[in-house]
Amino acid sequence: MEGCYWDREIETIPREDLLRLQLDRLNKTLQIAKHSPFYRGKIPEFVSDLDALKDIPFTTKKDLRGSFPHGMLAVPLERIIRLHSSSGTTGTATVVYHTKHDIDNWTELVARSMYMTGVRKHDIFHYGSERIGALTIPASSGNSKRQIRLMRDFHATVIHVTPSYALHLYPLFAEEGLNPRDQLQLRIAFLGAEPYTEETRRRIEDIYGLDAYDSYGLSEMNGPGVAFECPMKNGMHLWEDHYILEAIHPKTGKMLRDGEEGELVLTTLVRNGMPIIRYRTGDVATIFPHKCPCGRTHRRISRIKGRSDDMLIIKGVNLYPMQIEKVIMDIPEVGNNYLIEIERVDYLDSINIKVEIVPETFHGSFDELEHLKKKIVDNLKTEILIQPKVTLVEPGSLPRSEGKAVRVVDKRKE
Ligand SMILES: [Zn+2]
Repeated sequence: MEGCYWDREIETIPREDLLRLQLDRLNKTLQIAKHSPFYRGKIPEFVSDLDALKDIPFTTKKDLRGSFPHGMLAVPLERIIRLHSSSGTTGTATVVYHTKHDIDNWTELVARSMYMTGVRKHDIFHYGSERIGALTIPASSGNSKRQIRLMRDFHATVIHVTPSYALHLYPLFAEEGLNPRDQLQLRIAFLGAEPYTEETRRRIEDIYGLDAYDSYGLSEMNGPGVAFECPMKNGMHLWEDHYILEAIHPKTGKMLRDGEEGELVLTTLVRNGMPIIRYRTGDVATIFPHKCPCGRTHRRISRIKGRSDDMLIIKGVNLYPMQIEKVIMDIPEVGNNYLIEIERVDYLDSINIKVEIVPETFHGSFDELEHLKKKIVDNLKTEILIQPKVTLVEPGSLPRSEGKAVRVVDKRKE
């Protein structure tokens, strides 16, 4: 992997030095955070080792909402140059503040992440990479045809999209008379912002003819660039010089060992405007215990398996929607969209999975369809351990999404 580091020294820093750097930066962060109304009196002013972290209380999304608008601000407002506000699905707003120093550090991380996957200055990128020197075309979601034309007219080589949007765009290329594999210059895609499977990655790589890399970010921790895949495509390096990474049991809050699946908890280490300490991300993943062959020493996390609050309990069995996607996307006759419906009838849970299938199969014989349905049910039963009902539906008949996909309708809650 010679020559593929943006900043070799920090990316390959020995673990002991990294831990020392984290402790030093954590103490600086505690000093800054104590100036915010939220953290005042809640956190120690100094810790002598990183183990002390486990005695510091978590910060949650609810805390962020509760301290809206200024409760978490740690510096005078004059020093803030940007804020990101999100209304969230529940309607209560949260806000994240950035100083110039914060934006600089964030930009550096995004550049480091992209360079790692091979983005260079001759690339033409769809969103956010000026520091590498790549030409950047910011385009927010929506107006899909315009997105397609931007990519075509400016010969975009790199895109950053949600996996469901990449799949959603595909049939629209055909409507424009374009085959993205042959007629676009795309060579790299960053996929993120929602859970997806290895099967979906392979599908996107295949239809667009590019390399797709996992990316992880959340607005509370800046946004994109928190963790990114390296060319090994086996887990995302989480940049531990900027964040302290922990995994905890979602119910007990107990810190887990590397290799155990749990909810990720992150602490900012270089953010001045609004430091966040032990933030419960709600994202479920596993921290890999082994070193990556690429030489980077920052630990890797698995693909996000789901939200800790997405966990479904059906007939007493714990289940993440991702497990279902993994099974159905592995079946070639299955199209790019599906919907999970859960109902409770006479006190019994039932799960019905509506699956779009590819046009050729849909117009095939009744026997073929029955056979396919049985295959999906059997494969699902092996994975999720409960018997689902499966309905095969016409291609394009399920609601399509422009942003994060709605994959689960839990009618038990209505
Ligand atoms: Zn690596």
